[in-house]
Amino acid sequence: MASYDYDLFVIGGGSGGVRAGRVAASLGKRVAVAEEYRFGGTCVIRGCVPKKLFVYASQFAEHFEDSAGYGWSVEKPTFDWATLIANKDREIARLEAAYRSGLDNAKAEMIDSRAVLVDDHHVRIVAEDRVVSAETILIATGGRPNPHEALPGRENCISSNEAFHLTELPRSIAIEGGGYIAVEFANIFHGLGVETTLIYRGKEILGRFDMDVRRALHEEMEKKGIRILCQSVAIGVDKQADGTLAVHLNTGNTLQVGQMMLAIGRLPNTEGLGLEAAGVETGRTGEILVDEYSRTNVANIYAIGDVTNRVQLTPVAIHEAMCLIDTLYRGKPTSPDHEAIPTAVFSQPEIGTVGLSEDAAAAQYGELEIYLARFRPMRHTLSGRDERMVMKLVVDGETRKVLGAHVLGPDAGEMAQLLGIPIKAGLTKDDFDRTMALHPSAAEELVTMYQPTYRVKDGQRV
Ligand code: NDP
Repeated sequence: MASYDYDLFVIGGGSGGVRAGRVAASLGKRVAVAEEYRFGGTCVIRGCVPKKLFVYASQFAEHFEDSAGYGWSVEKPTFDWATLIANKDREIARLEAAYRSGLDNAKAEMIDSRAVLVDDHHVRIVAEDRVVSAETILIATGGRPNPHEALPGRENCISSNEAFHLTELPRSIAIEGGGYIAVEFANIFHGLGVETTLIYRGKEILGRFDMDVRRALHEEMEKKGIRILCQSVAIGVDKQADGTLAVHLNTGNTLQVGQMMLAIGRLPNTEGLGLEAAGVETGRTGEILVDEYSRTNVANIYAIGDVTNRVQLTPVAIHEAMCLIDTLYRGKPTSPDHEAIPTAVFSQPEIGTVGLSEDAAAAQYGELEIYLARFRPMRHTLSGRDERMVMKLVVDGETRKVLGAHVLGPDAGEMAQLLGIPIKAGLTKDDFDRTMALHPSAAEELVTMYQPTYRVKDGQRV
């Protein structure tokens, strides 16, 4: 039998790669994890975690306003961007250190270098210009913001990567895209006092979500003062003499802004990785093609996480890593389960969702019952804020199984995590009805909507 330097060589030290490397090492495997930037990957270094810290920062403006109705008076609050960045950077450094010590404690070797495939069993460690061998190779290199090659003046734009390190907060910003990142950053920048315009090519933001929460969030964002231009795209971005940008739109309008951010999706990081040399096949957007066990067309090379472009979410990459460990090292071939994944958009108000939207369910089921509630959250009775909450359950009319749950409002993400359990378990509306309400809470609405608001039959609302 051939002998290799490592049992497992992982390329990419993000959520998926670190989890696979750490657990494999803790099982006694000889493991190396190579990372060219910082351990922790997109989620920890320039994604979910710093984003959520920015979301918290941006919510204080409304908290200060809301406090007046409860008797508080706050002297004119001020915000310092440099303090936020410095504190955020400290927290990210702490988390990166925790990722490193997790690998270290498990006795996985960390290699601070880019690594590229030489062939199916060999990897070049670029910074050290040496080649090592491995029995199994795992590619977990994640993704990067789509640079929008077709846009003239794209070099004048930032992506979410740069948004985490701006030296100063712009007075105004335009953001292209209508997905998670565009919507979350529009709310962050607006909350921090930046005049914000969202430019989206489609009819309604957040294409993959339920229409009722999409529309309701759109309304709430506009009420706050975020400008949303649908059916619009930027066709050019020019830098002006004073350093501001002129963003030309397909509609003939031009926006003058301090910054322009592109958030039009993320591409798999597969360029220059030596995939051709190893014979690994990729798909249309460069994603690594894998089977149901995350195995590529090359028998000993696997790929997980965003680089496979299955579902671009951190917990999915971690789940794929754990399934792979079962498959490779526990004698239990396990396919990742990508059904009914709870997800949140950390907008303000936020969206929490799990399961099928009404439209997706209508395409698959003959009869649906839709339970829909719109109300003012209790917190806003005294705050006076004109903000509505939306709760929606999509139920199979035949079996009464709850197919989807959609929430817009405070703590919607937290609710979606818990709603994920009954929906994953396949529970019915009768199970929801049997559950005692917790009063007073917003979530009690989810177990007290006894009559369908309307029904859908063969795709038509009746
Ligand atoms: P998304 O896929 O969510 O959204 C991309 C947006 O860009 C869509 O609105 C899309 O429009 C639009 N778009 C695509 N191509 C173009 C183009 N050429 N010109 C103009 N608009 C375009 O990607 P994001 O970049 O927002 O986020 C990447 C991924 O990261 C997400 O899919 C998500 O999985 C993950 N993420 C998750 C978060 C969370 O869990 N809270 C937060 C941030 C990111 P259309 O709808 O018409 O296709």
